[in-house]
Amino acid sequence: MAKVGDQFSPGDVVPLSGIYKCSSCGSRSSFSTDVKGKTFPPSHHPGAKWELVEITPHR
Ligand SMILES: [Zn+2]
Repeated sequence: MAKVGDQFSPGDVVPLSGIYKCSSCGSRSSFSTDVKGKTFPPSHHPGAKWELVEITPHR
């Protein structure tokens, strides 16, 4: 199970709906798992990862 602080690469399947930040500049984006198999978009900064900062509870 993914947890806050875990980092993911572009192209990885989004494990949990939540807020993720660029590991380079800290810019935040919200990604959801509404679409099964949805993957992370290209990195916000070259070589950066997407880091989980807040998990969005399922409705
Ligand atoms: Zn960035």
